[in-house]
Amino acid sequence: MSMPSRADWEQRAQNLTIEGRAFVHGAYVPAADGATFDCLSPIDGRRLAAVANCGDADADAAVRDARATFESGVWSRLAPVRRKAVLQRFAELLDAHREELALLESLDMGKPVRDALKIDMPSAARCLRWCAEAVDKLYDEVAPTGPDELGLVTREPVGVVAAIVPWNFPLLMACWKLGPALAAGNSVILKPSEKSPLTAIRVAQLAVDAGLPPGVLNVLPGYGHTVGKALALHMDVDTLVFTGSTRTAKQLLIYAGESNLKRVWTEAGGKSPNIVCADAPDLRAAARAAAGAICFNQGEVCTAGSRLLVEASIKEAFMAMLLEEIRAWQPGHPLDPATNVGALADRQQLDTVLGYIAAGHAEGAALRCGGRRIMEDTGGFFVEPTVFDGVSNAMRIAREEIFGPVLSVIAFDDIDEAIRIANDTPYGLAAALWTADLSKAHRTARALRAGSVWVNQYDGGDMTAPFGGFKQSGNGRDKSLHAFDKYTEIKATWIRL
Ligand code: NAD
Repeated sequence: MSMPSRADWEQRAQNLTIEGRAFVHGAYVPAADGATFDCLSPIDGRRLAAVANCGDADADAAVRDARATFESGVWSRLAPVRRKAVLQRFAELLDAHREELALLESLDMGKPVRDALKIDMPSAARCLRWCAEAVDKLYDEVAPTGPDELGLVTREPVGVVAAIVPWNFPLLMACWKLGPALAAGNSVILKPSEKSPLTAIRVAQLAVDAGLPPGVLNVLPGYGHTVGKALALHMDVDTLVFTGSTRTAKQLLIYAGESNLKRVWTEAGGKSPNIVCADAPDLRAAARAAAGAICFNQGEVCTAGSRLLVEASIKEAFMAMLLEEIRAWQPGHPLDPATNVGALADRQQLDTVLGYIAAGHAEGAALRCGGRRIMEDTGGFFVEPTVFDGVSNAMRIAREEIFGPVLSVIAFDDIDEAIRIANDTPYGLAAALWTADLSKAHRTARALRAGSVWVNQYDGGDMTAPFGGFKQSGNGRDKSLHAFDKYTEIKATWIRL
């Protein structure tokens, strides 16, 4: 895949026509009250679009439309093999528009366009394709009854699904929900983050172009919690799926309890430990991965390896390698194809990250690199990759999710201590371990309370592996066939013969 130059991307950015309206029943529409908010680029503060600021009336209209579409059977009762064909076409259209979508994603949330093009867009299309291909291979069950009865255990689509997604991988997180939800036959209302709504709005049209009937996918952008709250409290939304912070996840569970007890599935925050033992097979590879685990996507990754646990006997040698590897990750203009660290998503995120860096200093951690905002003259929100050494697991920078390129290095003496520190967190999304000792690897992987455990690598996995969290990192799983559990109800039909 050839990569356009920065000048090409800049030129295309000038010529982009950006849609900011909501999408309901196959057409772009303004918010019911005409309200909009400004969507600003974190790269230079430029205004990209006026985006519809949807509210209660829009949520009502979109849910009514989604319900009517679901009940009509135009999608929900279509044969799986035909739903598959539409979703495959949808994936093809994502591929065909990947450069436009990658540019939108980069401008909107500040990630390097190179990553948006080579990682986010292909992964989003692959997710849709994988779910499409799965759906005509999922069989129901027949219960082991006696001869006079027939027990059918069947899966049905849940109905109307609201999907609330974050800004760090805007289209990819949306597709982790859309793939299985649409494949299973549901109608979906997608609520993108106010910080990055543009690709979700754009692909709604591509879905219809691919043959998805109007009303099966509606997209409602909105500022702050407004339209998300309206969907979460709505009496006619059957299931709410969410990726975002633990704080919002808790609130959504309350909304479900206050309304119709809709099913709520949450993928929430993380503070993932990356454990490097002295007997790691390749310490250089571990250092390279540790740098990538905190710098990729500006550290705005739910599975960021934000706590680096290093065995004390090798710590100084390992720190030297780590600091060398971090040098390969330096912020640059996101439209420059050489850039691997872009801008933080907005001013609020910048302030949060700088606040944690100040907290690290105040709590007595030792700064080993970075720590400053840079490229301020661009008007963008760029922060240097930052490493704190001498961190204790009780410090705020070790306990709270920073969601930026700030690494806390913690020393340990033996693997039992490493496991204790690793698990001493409210989160349980991911963990990694570097060792050449097979038994230690298995024992430790079992002991780690996390939804994903990586051994001698960081961030492995693909659509075949479930993804989700233990503890306050959420419930349920995205990706793999397990994802379909969120989007189907199980029915037992008992027949006397
Ligand atoms: P956030 O919780 O602030 O927002 C997520 C979404 O919820 C946005 O669309 C937002 O508008 C909406 N929202 C906020 N308050 C709401 C409310 N009261 N009612 C309804 N909707 C509301 O999270 P964020 O800052 O967008 O994303 C970063 C977080 O996402 C991090 O904590 C990160 O770890 C998490 N994340 C988790 C995963 C995962 O798979 N576990 C993946 C990516 C990101």
